Amino acid sequence: MSRRIQGIGMTSRRTRERMISRLREQGIYNSKVLAVMADTPRHIFVDEALESRAYEDTALPIGHNQTISQPYIVAKMTELLLEKGALHKVLEIGTGCGYQTAILARLVEQVYSVERIAPLMKKARDTLWELNIKTVGFKHSDGGWGWPEHAPYDGILAAAAPAEIPEALLEQMAVGGVMVIPVGLEGMQELHRITRTEQGFEDEVIERVSFVPFLSGVTQ
Ligand code: SAH
Repeated sequence: MSRRIQGIGMTSRRTRERMISRLREQGIYNSKVLAVMADTPRHIFVDEALESRAYEDTALPIGHNQTISQPYIVAKMTELLLEKGALHKVLEIGTGCGYQTAILARLVEQVYSVERIAPLMKKARDTLWELNIKTVGFKHSDGGWGWPEHAPYDGILAAAAPAEIPEALLEQMAVGGVMVIPVGLEGMQELHRITRTEQGFEDEVIERVSFVPFLSGVTQ
């Protein structure tokens, strides 16, 4: 393993273990999620100047006006997604730096990740390659369309908040599938978990959250 991946001091395995203890205190209980987060170097997903802050429980800038989600929210969304059983095919909207993507890729068979900002997608692809994660499909597109070619998905996770859930994402859920998504305008967003049943959709409101907005169109 390269030295950069391994980390040292504020980016070492020990610092990562402290992050895991904090996540436990915050109520994260899924041991698989915690193990994968303990094993995944978060510092290589941010700029070198921010590496020493990578294990703080905070969102950090990743350029293009976007942020890497805080560790608690990554853990919570992953846990909510996995709670209803093992997942095979997961669609992620909003790759960003790819940290959430890496966590998902280590817990499910196949991840498809859509990002509207091309340079972020390319950088995330390189970082995951560096970590030897090769089961992720990337697409530069507006996630509001989902990724119909691979549907239906038994899990969908969105890292940006739309005012309302895009119809295409609901359509691309398998029966029994789960979607974890922040919904609402800035300052009044809530995290939802939608489950598709034979009869329709169940909607659980989990907690208040703060995400970047879900934007339409793409940026080269
Ligand atoms: N989990 C990511 C979160 C990044 S922030 C991380 O930890 O890095 C949310 C991301 O969603 C941003 O990169 C933003 O560009 C992207 N995004 C916003 N609206 C989108 C849309 N309609 N389709 C695809 N990506 C979108």
